[in-house]
Amino acid sequence: MTELNKITKAIRIQTERTNEMEHSTPLFLTSSFCFDNAEEMRAAFADESDDNIYSRFSNPSVQEFTDKMCALEGAESGYATASGMSAISGSFLALMKQGDHLLSCNSIFGSTHTVISKYLPKFGIEYSYVSATASEAEWEAAIKPNTKMIYLESPTNPGLDILDIEMIAKLSKKHQIILNVDNCFATPINQTPLALGADIVIHSATKWLDGQGRVLGGIVLGKKELIKEVYLFCRSTGPALSPFNAWVLSKSLETLDVRMERHASNALFIAEQLQSNNKISGLKYPYLTTHPQYSIAKKQMKNGGGIVCFELKGGLESGRKFLDGLQMLSLTGNLGDTRSIASHPASTTHAKLTEEERKAVNITPGLIRISVGLEDKNDILKDIVQALDKC
Ligand SMILES: *Cc1c(COP(=O)(O)O)cnc(C)c1O
Repeated sequence: MTELNKITKAIRIQTERTNEMEHSTPLFLTSSFCFDNAEEMRAAFADESDDNIYSRFSNPSVQEFTDKMCALEGAESGYATASGMSAISGSFLALMKQGDHLLSCNSIFGSTHTVISKYLPKFGIEYSYVSATASEAEWEAAIKPNTKMIYLESPTNPGLDILDIEMIAKLSKKHQIILNVDNCFATPINQTPLALGADIVIHSATKWLDGQGRVLGGIVLGKKELIKEVYLFCRSTGPALSPFNAWVLSKSLETLDVRMERHASNALFIAEQLQSNNKISGLKYPYLTTHPQYSIAKKQMKNGGGIVCFELKGGLESGRKFLDGLQMLSLTGNLGDTRSIASHPASTTHAKLTEEERKAVNITPGLIRISVGLEDKNDILKDIVQALDKC
């Protein structure tokens, strides 16, 4: 058979059918695996065979999810983790050591910022940030002799800045630095960072990959030799993905392509309809020509994704009024669900930061993030508009 399309692979890759002849993939909810005899067991522990030993190391349900993600991202290898944060911290700690420097961008997910700024320095790993709109020269000037890794998100959470992955990949190749990209917001349906030159892609599978707000999960994908290090680190430190969550996530990947297409078309509709609303002072969506990095989005993304951001003219107080005014959209900390979600970072996820600190990571007082779901687009729009009327 000819090479299958990656969308087909995300549906068809499956653990080998058992003697029960099941059609849907089985769930291997087991912590360990048996051996027929002492020699087989010895060989497995000596890494002379690929036999499963223990689910902290490997598990067929987890492998199925990993294989599908490798196909979708075009990766040689992967290691699935219990959450997006364990994928991020695992990739940091496995691939950097004392004395190394991590270069990142000031627009990154809040917990990632905590890991980078609070915990990496404890292990002697330095960091510095450039702004999301930094030019090629500014990125290059920020590279130090000990820069080991560049880490970025695009689009960024929650501000929807777009970074030019290809441009930064060229710099990282030139300076022999590992480029690690969080592809959570785009998903491999929309953008494949490895094809743009990145060395590692990480995901919070909790978001669009699950797509139904049920389980936590994460994954690190990329070149074999880098993933081997991540695997060895994680198999000892223990952030393994639960086989149950892997089974749920593997099933989710079968519908990822159709879901993401609808999320993106609903989001584009919402963005277009809201951009002239008189309660809003600015609206961002990667596929609107008004987005400051529209041309980069067009170059590296297949569509604009499922997130829309806007700034309320009334600032912090309007943000609270907007959340209270919603009748259908959920107020919850997650994103990437079938159900549309509204969040107001300044009064919730980023409330502990000072105004200055929020400004430094591009969280403005009236910033609202909408994760556009799969409901009827007019129902979503109506709810947002009536809540804006109350601001
Ligand atoms: C949620 C999120 C994470 C963290 O993932 P968890 O699964 O919650 O640990 C990392 N990066 C981005 C962009 C996210 O949105």
